[in-house]
Amino acid sequence: MRTIFLLSILFVVVLLWTACRSSKTGQVTPLTYDQYPFYGGNDLGISWSASGTVFKLWSPAAQAVRFHLYENGSTGNPLRTLDMKKGKSGVWSIALKGDMQGKYYTVQVQTGGKWLAETPDPYAKAVGVNGQRGMIIDLSKTNPAGWNDDKRPSQAAFTDIILYELHVRDLSAHINSGIKHRGKFLGLTETGTHNVAGQRTGLDHLKELGITHLHLIPVFDYRSSSVDESLPPQVPQYNWGYDPENYNVPEGSYATDAADGAVRIREFKQAIQTLHRNGIRVVMDVVYNHTGATDESVFNRVAPGYYYRQNADGKYSNASACGNETASERAMMRQYMIESLKYWVQEYHIDGFRVDLMGIHDIETMNRISAELHAIDPTIFIYGEGWTAGASPLPDSLKAIKANTHRLDRIAAFSDDFRDALKGSVFNHEERGFVSGRPGQEESIKFGIVASTKHPQVDYSKVNYSKAPWAKEPFQTITYVDCHDNHTLWDRLALSCPDASEAERIKMQELAAAMVLTSQGVSFLHAGVEMLRSKQGVENSFNSPDAINQIDWSRKTQYAAVFDYFRDLIQLRKNHPAFRMPSAEMIRTHLKFLDTNASNLLAYQITGNANGDAWKNILVIFNGNPAAKTVQLPPGKWAVVLEGDVINEKGIREETRSHAEVPGISAMILFEQ
Ligand code: CA
Repeated sequence: MRTIFLLSILFVVVLLWTACRSSKTGQVTPLTYDQYPFYGGNDLGISWSASGTVFKLWSPAAQAVRFHLYENGSTGNPLRTLDMKKGKSGVWSIALKGDMQGKYYTVQVQTGGKWLAETPDPYAKAVGVNGQRGMIIDLSKTNPAGWNDDKRPSQAAFTDIILYELHVRDLSAHINSGIKHRGKFLGLTETGTHNVAGQRTGLDHLKELGITHLHLIPVFDYRSSSVDESLPPQVPQYNWGYDPENYNVPEGSYATDAADGAVRIREFKQAIQTLHRNGIRVVMDVVYNHTGATDESVFNRVAPGYYYRQNADGKYSNASACGNETASERAMMRQYMIESLKYWVQEYHIDGFRVDLMGIHDIETMNRISAELHAIDPTIFIYGEGWTAGASPLPDSLKAIKANTHRLDRIAAFSDDFRDALKGSVFNHEERGFVSGRPGQEESIKFGIVASTKHPQVDYSKVNYSKAPWAKEPFQTITYVDCHDNHTLWDRLALSCPDASEAERIKMQELAAAMVLTSQGVSFLHAGVEMLRSKQGVENSFNSPDAINQIDWSRKTQYAAVFDYFRDLIQLRKNHPAFRMPSAEMIRTHLKFLDTNASNLLAYQITGNANGDAWKNILVIFNGNPAAKTVQLPPGKWAVVLEGDVINEKGIREETRSHAEVPGISAMILFEQ
């Protein structure tokens, strides 16, 4: 008995010794990511005050964390290196006495006995050149004069929004823009600019066109391997910026000085303030679905693996097709997205977000984001790409994909159904669409006209991609024909219609514009479409030079009639609420499709002063055929307001016949008072 007792004691001692030894050597079973402690405080990163700075980092698996303080953002040895202390919920902290404004810092995490490379923290709000070091900053010093009085321009309903998608450089890079700060945030603030022929450019052009929201493709800090902020402006560099580095900091190459971390913040705020003063809201394109780097990302240098999804084999999954995908369903990634978006709203007064590859994020995270942002301001507009770029371990039922849009709270998705029905699939360059004379797209077009909502006259079985309505309300659909991805509409029409004359292709582009800007939902325009923008046939121009991407302002003169047509269409939409009904029920009540008995010919009527419109009845006809077509008019006294490329809201002429004759490849709009 005694021997068994002693053996038992020995066994327990050996067990305890083994466990103790393994914990000292880091051999204990690590926590799974789901077991990492959650920290719900909003004080991660730098908290500056004149008397002292506190810095906090969430890094539950770290064995030790160092904080390095620097004089500047890129060179020199640390002024000090300090050991951070671990507190509750995996949060490490350090307090520095005195005013540290203007100093730079990095953190360094030890895991598995190894020190990882230095990095800014994920919550860094200011950085040095190329985002390699964080900056301790008094943000109030970055506010332009009058910033506290900055107000969002008024906005009644989401369906009143007209988006214009732009890369910061593209607006001002061309010499003929007449803009001084070419390629910069400040280029968005210049007024009174014009091309050599005297036509308005830049901000004045946006006002003249009449858009309500400027949607900027990435303006957060992206990787130096795409654009090196340390190089002088005369070195040609260009990138769209879909490779995030520091999510809470503006990109340095759009600032007049990338080395001083305060300048990019101040100048981006100046751009937002000026746009607001000129009645234009600002949307940021956000790319939380992946990071530009994987092993060297800020996330992986502070909490290796945690912020990303992995496949069953433990390797990074890749639904972004960029090497990794983030894990929005994990508590601290979800919290990170929420805090980051709130920060852009509160510190920069951003009015809306376009969520890149939104289908990678989970529905719950998107709905939490919506609730938090709309609690700050219910007019903030959130929309995204309702798809992924590859397979994800997240099940479809949980993804914020297009088919699940009706489960998203006050969030919209892009309609690729309408986009491809108009011009052909983006994956098949020669394919034509409704405007280029391809029959069989009628139901997809009707689906687009009613903004992907439920309508008794749409045969969903014949819609190109979606076999069911996916938007609960019309504002959930972004109506568009082209964007920064793929060919510009003008280049696409040249590719798919090689035998068409320029005059015919202009008619196609104008028909597409009329179809986008009269359809229900939220209108979206790719910058320059109003002057037949070309990227000289380059499809994915993400790193093409300015020569390919820039807006060539001489085209505004060359194609002045096209510009006028777009401007007048926007005015028509703004003057007539019938084209932007706020509810699916209202669309079902007032919008009726007519039977045209012809292919590639669509007509619908909006009746009963819909949505308070001054016009009692409106008749809209789209003819995608090269030949003129005839449509029987409903009884009444009709006046033509849009015919060919002429728009006159007072009426071009009365239509005394019982039918309308619609010229080939064109829209026609008539009204009854
Ligand atoms: Ca950068």
